[in-house]
Amino acid sequence: MTKFEIRGVHADVLIGAEEREEILKGVDLTINSGETHAIMGPNGSGKSTLAYAIAGHPRYEITSGEVLLDGENVLEMGVDERARAGLFLAMQYPVEVPGVSMSNFLRSAVTAVRGEAPKLRDFSKELQGSMKNLAIDSSFASRGVNEGFSGGEKKRHEILQLELLQPRMAILDETDSGLDVDALKVVSEGVNRIRQSGEVGVMLITHYTRILQHVHPDYVHVFAGGRIAESGGPELADVLESEGYERFAKAGA
Ligand code: ADP
Ligand code: MG
Ligand code: MG
Repeated sequence: MTKFEIRGVHADVLIGAEEREEILKGVDLTINSGETHAIMGPNGSGKSTLAYAIAGHPRYEITSGEVLLDGENVLEMGVDERARAGLFLAMQYPVEVPGVSMSNFLRSAVTAVRGEAPKLRDFSKELQGSMKNLAIDSSFASRGVNEGFSGGEKKRHEILQLELLQPRMAILDETDSGLDVDALKVVSEGVNRIRQSGEVGVMLITHYTRILQHVHPDYVHVFAGGRIAESGGPELADVLESEGYERFAKAGA
């Protein structure tokens, strides 16, 4: 059983040498393993800032509050340590790492998380299996990480990492955006596969209700003005679908 807690988090974005702006204004959220929480909200409400702040991105500074994974302070961990602790973050805009092949990158990531390098042959088999599940052509294994990938290919690659790393807590920032219907289905199936164990907590950040037709959340939170403005069950997504975010845009201002 894993507990991921975001407690009273305030965070600034560092804009220039002198300039900063508070974006997160007191975020509280607890996610237990086996639960999927959808974080929905208008553009610019701070959803990605929350993901970046948890990831420890240097442009974002948490000014107060804490983030805990089973009581351990995530914000004090290095990037590798976070991954070893079982935290997985898929960013809205995955970075390209030219010159490093996908298979090398993924094997290193798996090695870091599992604490020992998988045998090359075993890993190749595992990788090919997961790639097949995600309808990723096997030729991608030798390509540079995200290099020249389309938006949809980058998102599939994020889910490939997710499947191989088997985290305890996964934060997925707009993994659904820019996907066509078929890709959305493949990506959703990937997310649902890792949920099956009941041992992973999922924070699914999304602007649209579309993915929630495939990945059914246990809880839905509306993010507005840098905090959670309302929380509810899956029915809250239906309200948003019909009413939009207007009501919350005001509350967050
Ligand atoms: P969302 O993911 O909900 O669309 P973001 O977290 O991306 O929202 O952005 C929240 C606010 O923070 C926006 O007003 C955005 O312009 C601002 N912001 C985020 N990152 C930066 C940055 N690196 N520089 C300047 N402003 C930023
Ligand atoms: Mg946005
Ligand atoms: Mg965003």
